[in-house]
Amino acid sequence: MGEFKLLRHKAAGHEGTLTDKDEVLVFKVLTQQELDFYQVVQEKSLRESDAADAADGDLPLSAWLPTFLGVLDESLQERGPGDSTAILSDSQTTPKSGGRKLLVLENLLYGYSQPNVLDVKLGKILFDEHASEEKRQRLSEVSRTTTSGSSGFRICGMHMQANELTKEIDEVHFEETDTGNIFINKNFGRSRTVDNIEGAFNLFFANDRLSEKRIKQLKEIFLQRIQLLYNTLLDEEVRMVSASLLFIYEGDPNRWDTLEDHDPILRSDFIEYSEDNESVEGEYEGKNRDYKGEEDSNDSMPENTSLSTLALIDFAHSKFVPGEGYDENVVDAVENLMKLFDNLNL
Ligand code: ADP
Ligand code: MN
Repeated sequence: MGEFKLLRHKAAGHEGTLTDKDEVLVFKVLTQQELDFYQVVQEKSLRESDAADAADGDLPLSAWLPTFLGVLDESLQERGPGDSTAILSDSQTTPKSGGRKLLVLENLLYGYSQPNVLDVKLGKILFDEHASEEKRQRLSEVSRTTTSGSSGFRICGMHMQANELTKEIDEVHFEETDTGNIFINKNFGRSRTVDNIEGAFNLFFANDRLSEKRIKQLKEIFLQRIQLLYNTLLDEEVRMVSASLLFIYEGDPNRWDTLEDHDPILRSDFIEYSEDNESVEGEYEGKNRDYKGEEDSNDSMPENTSLSTLALIDFAHSKFVPGEGYDENVVDAVENLMKLFDNLNL
């Protein structure tokens, strides 16, 4: 696995999220609740892929999450490159002393040349039953004074290429980054209102390097994805407090040319596209497909054939609630986002 480095192009969140040398994976400090959530999603998706596709044709929740690959004990990292046994499936993980535990996820940005990333936090209600009284007060206030309360979602941040419209942003709302992009911070999102929230999404897509046609295509495909996600969520008995929707698109016109503007609605299966890759060997038996184990891998890296993607992330306060119905807090948010994207597409 080689060494860790900091994940680039983050749109929000805490410091300390890592990636590997080739930026194929994301390592996030593990909380038990987030691990539990990913594991239930994974178990369900394994079970459901045995059965025929769901009768109603709706996509499973797993279609919207980064692929979960396991748990890594940070201390095992010291064993050095090539020791991929450091990746443990959870059943092999023994809670022993030493390093932090990291969640190993698919890096959703893998393969992008100029990723533009927008993090939208879902829900009016931003705390769960474990929150302290102080936290409840504070987060109720955040909700009451932002679009979290009025629209059910709030922009947490963006990491994107500068464009004509970003020149207009108040200087306290952004900073330049080491990637030459700009990072739009949480104060930008907190100061949006129902009257300018649509403009904030338009700003995200107002890429100087992409043609009008490509920008229109992006707005359309994200609307389609939000509609599909909405249907998924109506079927899922979850409570996802303080989860985010991540919007990612390619801002490098050369990659659009190479892919001839072809952008699938859903990402291709991460396991499949990484299975010939040397640095992501057959350890990931997460899904029941045949591993083509031949040592025929030239040094080719996995291929990512997407130009944009929509994903749910951040489940440190998420859980399954069988029998309790859909997550109204999140479904309402996604419904409002759907209306917003309807308007963007007018
Ligand atoms: P936190 O719990 O610190 O809020 P998140 O899971 O919300 O962490 O992630 C913070 C940021 O990291 C996101 O806004 C996104 O930009 C980036 N990120 C998180 N997970 C992934 C992933 N699997 N692939 C790519 N980027 C990710
Ligand atoms: Mn987050």
